[in-house]
Amino acid sequence: MRVLLLVLLMCYLSSGLSEPRQSLVPGGIAIISLEAGDDSAYSFRGKPVLVTRIGGKPSALVGLPLSLQPGEHYIENRSTDQVHKKFFEVKPKQYSTQNITITDKRKVNPYASDMERILAEKARKQKARDHYSKADVDINFLTPIIGTNTGSFGRRRVFNGQKRRPHSGMDLAAATGTPIRAPSAGTVIELGDFFFSGNLVYIDHGQGLISMFAHLDEIDVVLGERVEKGQVVGKVGATGRVTGPHLHWSIGLNGTWIDPALFIAAQD
Ligand SMILES: [Zn+2]
Repeated sequence: MRVLLLVLLMCYLSSGLSEPRQSLVPGGIAIISLEAGDDSAYSFRGKPVLVTRIGGKPSALVGLPLSLQPGEHYIENRSTDQVHKKFFEVKPKQYSTQNITITDKRKVNPYASDMERILAEKARKQKARDHYSKADVDINFLTPIIGTNTGSFGRRRVFNGQKRRPHSGMDLAAATGTPIRAPSAGTVIELGDFFFSGNLVYIDHGQGLISMFAHLDEIDVVLGERVEKGQVVGKVGATGRVTGPHLHWSIGLNGTWIDPALFIAAQD
């Protein structure tokens, strides 16, 4: 038992604390090296881009939307008279399709009376995802729970035979009540009980890097709270549109959802 606990602890400690990996596909991340001392503001499609040190070098970390067309793209810097561009190439990626059966049919085909709530929550979620603050950012994430990855990012989803939006995060299966830890320090910018997401929490890690946790049984933070890396922010649950208890974890970067797997050590 003691050995098992030690192995689990080592898995937990090693399942983070690595720098994010580049993946030049829709839903991925571009990592672009900048010249030493370049502290100018870059943007991608009009949104400010995260700049930090990666592998010891100043680098831009760019979130690539799932809807991005493959081909040549660029970040740009308009801090001087000349527009300075840095180009990168995005390759296509085919994401698989997942069929899901939801017993609470109202979560797939909401009543007309649910729509006002759903639209108000959608606006709050977009605002939280697009949030940008100029804080220092720690990109070496911890994995929020030890769990089985059951629904990978980007899957095209069919609920009760009906097409819905692709999966915007990673699902980690775990028992109800499992504590969820903040992968990095940040500030709680949104929380509440939402129609589809159940109990959710958004954490702003700085420079447009956002974590979102959904379907919680319990929320253990308050709006505006400063959280430390590793601090428990809530417990795993089965609230909202779910088939069972799990943690849904989304990572936002420059206003777009990217694959959280790129922020955690490769699973073997
Ligand atoms: Zn999910």
